[in-house]
Amino acid sequence: MISVIEPATAEVMAEVPRAGVEEVDAAVAAAKAAFPAWRAVAPADRARLMRQIADGIEARLEELSTLEARNAGKPINDARGEIGMVVDTFRYYSGAPERLLGQTIPVAGGVDFTFREPMGVIGLIVPWNFPLAISSWKVAPALAAGNTVVLKPAELTPLTALELEKVVLEAGLPEGVLNVVAGPGRTCGNRLVEHPDVAKIAFTGSTEVGRGIAAGAAQTIKRVTLELGGKSATVIFADADIEAAAAAAPSAVFGNAGQDCCARSRILVERSQVDRFLEAMEAAVNKITVGDPLDEATEMGPLISASHLETVSSFVPDDAPVAFRGRAPDGPGYWFPPTVLSPVTNSDRPAREEIFGPVACVIPFDGEAEAIRIANDTEYGLSGSIWTGDGGRALRVARQIDTGVLSINSNSRQVSTPFGGFKQSGIGRELGPNALDHYTEVKNVFYATEESG
Ligand code: NAD
Repeated sequence: MISVIEPATAEVMAEVPRAGVEEVDAAVAAAKAAFPAWRAVAPADRARLMRQIADGIEARLEELSTLEARNAGKPINDARGEIGMVVDTFRYYSGAPERLLGQTIPVAGGVDFTFREPMGVIGLIVPWNFPLAISSWKVAPALAAGNTVVLKPAELTPLTALELEKVVLEAGLPEGVLNVVAGPGRTCGNRLVEHPDVAKIAFTGSTEVGRGIAAGAAQTIKRVTLELGGKSATVIFADADIEAAAAAAPSAVFGNAGQDCCARSRILVERSQVDRFLEAMEAAVNKITVGDPLDEATEMGPLISASHLETVSSFVPDDAPVAFRGRAPDGPGYWFPPTVLSPVTNSDRPAREEIFGPVACVIPFDGEAEAIRIANDTEYGLSGSIWTGDGGRALRVARQIDTGVLSINSNSRQVSTPFGGFKQSGIGRELGPNALDHYTEVKNVFYATEESG
């Protein structure tokens, strides 16, 4: 059994069966058996079934939000937002079955056209930080395109994925179309990666594990999409609305207690404005309510586990340059206060490694060219923000930062827009129309029209 821990209390909140290699093999066999019938479902019917999944999740929004808030330690209001996004994601991709268009291509001697075919059984491996939201970013486009799936949630947060399996059956999808295996990465995840009947792996998690998955998938030439780590920068120019940038900075880096691949954990501030920025950000950080995830007033919860608390703490030793920090409960539970380090250079460890906790580095810069150089001086390239009052500069800088997702004078993410990383932050894009390219194969057909003889 897996003992599922509630991070706010450090107590066991549920026991669920621990899947192993045999369960993965059974799930893949079920998905393989279900594939021919599922791909043959008429597009309008598949679209309707997708909408019914969205309706089923919406009907259980409060229950699923509470489960996610307790299991992942996230504020209940954030959890409601995430489950709402899951509903939106299924609704968005319910439009896909009837819009997976091919092309006609002008050629001599006949008609040439393409189909977007499903791939077969897709293995989905997801992390613990946004358990159901990230699952839905993969499950919805995969099913909409006519694939069947085996979903492996993180061992720490399997509960909402197991509920999704029920919702999907209640919505009327056939058995075997979605299969959930809750078990460890090194057994269940690894078996999915090596299984000869799995056509593709869609993975979200650390760059280190992603590297191993890419290598493992190469053995059977599996398609792979990877959403990996980040070390994103917010770039704040002196001509920006500094108070607005400082007010927005905490949610950009401390949201989900910093356990967000998009966390803008490097805050680059033009040197003349550093003191003014720090003063305004300190006021904003002092207002963050850290505590019980189920309290409606809570804005930040605990970290996911005792070992993760130890890792995050290692980035803030006693001699760390802590400019200021907020408050957090003493325990039980895995609490860490929102913490701002300043001054920091981009070569210091907290500015180079993904901390995945509520720790921000403020890094001064002089001028546009240096801001771009520092922002790009990382092995990652996932997210980022630019704050400036100069529209031309905003676009000029945006074009030069090597990152998959940028926002200007805001921080945002929507299901209708592509999401993914440059460099070691990943391969491929999720969400938006682009995701469907990663769950279909293009088939080209030539039909001869010349009279024979
Ligand atoms: P992780 O890499 O440890 O685990 C992710 C998933 O992979 C889990 O389900 C785990 O069981 C599984 N896994 C572990 N070892 C495996 C193996 N050898 N073979 C197959 N599967 C294996 O990541 P985590 O600690 O759960 O999540 C945090 C990481 O995820 C951070 O690095 C974060 O940046 C990243 N992340 C990225 C995105 C994104 O979209 N780019 C989103 C969220 C999180």
